[in-house]
Amino acid sequence: MTDLIAANDAIERALALLQAGEVVAIPTETVYGLAGDATNGAAVARIFEAKGRPRFNPLIAHVADMRMAERIGVFDALSRKLADAFWPGPLTLVVPLRPEFGIHPLVTAGLDTIALRMPKGFGGQLIARLGRPLAAPSANTSGKISSTSGQAVARDLGGRIPLVVDGGPTSVGLESTIVKVEDGRARLLRPGGIAAGEIEAVAGSALLRGVTAGIEAPGMLASHYAPGAQMRLNAESIEAGEALLGFGSKRAEGWLHARAYMNLSESGNLREAATNLFAHLQALDRSGADLIAVEPIPFDELGEAINDRLARAAAPRDNPRV
Ligand code: AMP
Ligand code: MG
Repeated sequence: MTDLIAANDAIERALALLQAGEVVAIPTETVYGLAGDATNGAAVARIFEAKGRPRFNPLIAHVADMRMAERIGVFDALSRKLADAFWPGPLTLVVPLRPEFGIHPLVTAGLDTIALRMPKGFGGQLIARLGRPLAAPSANTSGKISSTSGQAVARDLGGRIPLVVDGGPTSVGLESTIVKVEDGRARLLRPGGIAAGEIEAVAGSALLRGVTAGIEAPGMLASHYAPGAQMRLNAESIEAGEALLGFGSKRAEGWLHARAYMNLSESGNLREAATNLFAHLQALDRSGADLIAVEPIPFDELGEAINDRLARAAAPRDNPRV
């Protein structure tokens, strides 16, 4: 049995569950997170079970403030500068772990680094009250589309978790941007809710790109964020019966014959498109179409992260809808 409770009324119940080692789905500004006490191995194991997530994949630990962050990880000058500029917000920083803090090794998948983020709103308040960091990947079945509303979480994970805290639709709609500082230079590990250019403006230099050896994690797997339907990107025209995910004011040829049509942003606004991406994909998937065609989306600003998620949603996978 899964309860769906409005954020204003949910904090005591969420706290009690977390203190008991349970997991709770919570709203953040990026996407909904499936949260558990990051120092409690049983709680972290429950996160992996509820998602069906492979255990070699590390989780992001969420903190309430800089003091908590610095007790868990070691901040060099540039990491601190980026935290000052973007926290609370959709930036995750990978920093060396302080093992004595007691983050459970399931969170880091045994790595000697840790991914840290300070979320806005309900999540931040909850962590401050709990006094401990929360491990929280996106609140969805592993490999599937991330959830950006309480209802979407309940549809996907209902029956598998005790509580979904409903904070309404998320404001950013994409997962955090992940950055790691190496020898004083910031490397982009995953594009996300803060555009690379915004980070470069604060860092004062271009981000390094391309992942260094060693880390393979879910958001970096080729197939991820996948709907049941097949996907076709950069569609200039569509076939009858396909669903269409549009962007901007110019339509793909044949669009009037689409089985279902939604637009990420009529005005071509990439922030609006990011906010709508996952909910629109879920809605088009529910139309029952075998294929979702996606109109071209520019790569600048948040378009980089949107195209990253779409490419993974479109990648070959083991078990497409038949
Ligand atoms: P998710 O919580 O599903 O948004 O995914 C968390 C992501 O954080 C993973 O996909 C990794 O890309 C990244 N991550 C977590 N821990 C580390 C780490 N220690 N080093 C590098 N990347 C990490
Ligand atoms: Mg995820």
